[in-house]
Amino acid sequence: MTDLPTAGDSGWSDPDTLGAIPPVVAVTYCASCGRSANKGNHVLCRERLRVEPPVHCTTCRRELAIVRSGSQWSATCKKHGETSGTLEDA
Ligand SMILES: [Zn+2]
Ligand SMILES: [Zn+2]
Repeated sequence: MTDLPTAGDSGWSDPDTLGAIPPVVAVTYCASCGRSANKGNHVLCRERLRVEPPVHCTTCRRELAIVRSGSQWSATCKKHGETSGTLEDA
């Protein structure tokens, strides 16, 4: 009886939003607001990222150079290279 659950796991998210969060553990910073991805609430950021390209590198928080063409975007971090994606129509 020593395997008590550990309380105070700071990585634990709000249960209300759990179903909407994909299990991406490599993201350190919010691509939208640039704050720590594990702190605060980024539900609105995630909504924004569906219709706007990211602003910050999720690994180093540098500002990304964005190139958009229609709904396609590519974002280049000086250190981590290029990522790309497609925006949803709002
Ligand atoms: Zn955010
Ligand atoms: Zn980077």
